[in-house]
Amino acid sequence: MTGRGGGFELLDIAGAHGCEAVHLAADPATGMRAVVAVHSTVLGPGLGGTRFQAYPDEAMAVLDVCRLARGMTYKHAACGNDQGGGKAVLIGDPATMRTEALIEAYARFVDRLGGVYLTAEDVGTTQADMDLIRRVTPYVTGTSLELGGSGDPSPATAWGVRWAMAAVAERLWGAPSLAGRHVVVLGVGKVGSALARHLRDEGARLTLSDVRPDVVGALAAELGADVVEVADAVEVDCDVLSPCALGALLDERSIPRLGCAAVCGAANNQLATDDDGARLAEAGILYAPDYVVNAGGVVNIAEEQAPGGYDPDRARARVERIGDTVRRVFALADGHGIVPAAAADRLAEDRLAAAQAGQGR
Ligand code: NAD
Repeated sequence: MTGRGGGFELLDIAGAHGCEAVHLAADPATGMRAVVAVHSTVLGPGLGGTRFQAYPDEAMAVLDVCRLARGMTYKHAACGNDQGGGKAVLIGDPATMRTEALIEAYARFVDRLGGVYLTAEDVGTTQADMDLIRRVTPYVTGTSLELGGSGDPSPATAWGVRWAMAAVAERLWGAPSLAGRHVVVLGVGKVGSALARHLRDEGARLTLSDVRPDVVGALAAELGADVVEVADAVEVDCDVLSPCALGALLDERSIPRLGCAAVCGAANNQLATDDDGARLAEAGILYAPDYVVNAGGVVNIAEEQAPGGYDPDRARARVERIGDTVRRVFALADGHGIVPAAAADRLAEDRLAAAQAGQGR
């Protein structure tokens, strides 16, 4: 189906790439080109961030956004959000292309989708962009607190990782405490630094690593932590390795080098391939699945949709339940004789199937 409106072309490719719908829009006046993928609305409207980044061509953008939207379906389902999987990309280099007019054109596109997709901040977009989008459409989350939004999701993400790590500690050492445990935090940006402060407050021993020596040095001095070179971080003999930088850290080369008993961190897509979940298990390392561990941000943002609007206390309580979700994942893995990464998928798929059955689909 192809439609036209608001100065841009609108194209729906229902069913493409396993998604319920893929919408493409271009606005020649501003150079805006965007793709919105709605993977599933079984649990609610598709909710996920807008990436602003360059792609070699539009087909690559469509593939990427569909993959990301599918990931959001699983993340929302596993963490108990009544939201579906959605994601968007604005195609181009934000450093050279971002203008108010372009963001507004994108907001009109999101608005025309009528609420089947709710956007949010992601790589390349900012809270200021979300505030701008809010002027045009209600279908945006993660706006600033002054506009009734939930603000930066990073503190909630870090808080969720802390509760996931407590569940890991309980599983391995019998009590949900990190006191005296040695944790390596790899990547001390918005999430990693907040997590490190929580762990310090709990009495954990910390080793920090980051490609920015000044930043990691200052944080280590503040927290009384050790510092290790990025290249050596995975080898540190520790209780928990917490990847909080880039994805695909865990692969056939890095896993044999790991010095940790467990992996539990915020980075997305930590396993390079599906086989790496089994590799970790074979190495005797407990893996807390990334999209369950790092769901605090989306739990927090989804609370904006609750009746009565965003309530920080209610959101915080829901974020803390990530620990229980991690426990359920481990129990499912035990019960079915599967690795935790597969158990997380099963948890999400079971919830989607139950919702679908309830809807008579
Ligand atoms: P950030 O950009 O604030 O921090 C990332 C940090 O990693 C930076 O300090 C950077 O210098 C460092 N880094 C980059 N490359 C590195 C490398 N090769 N080795 C070690 N350190 C490196 O990002 P963030 O918001 O803290 O997010 C961290 C991770 O968590 C990302 O993978 C992100 O996708 C994921 N995540 C974040 C949120 C959130 O709410 N911010 C939610 C879910 C998932």
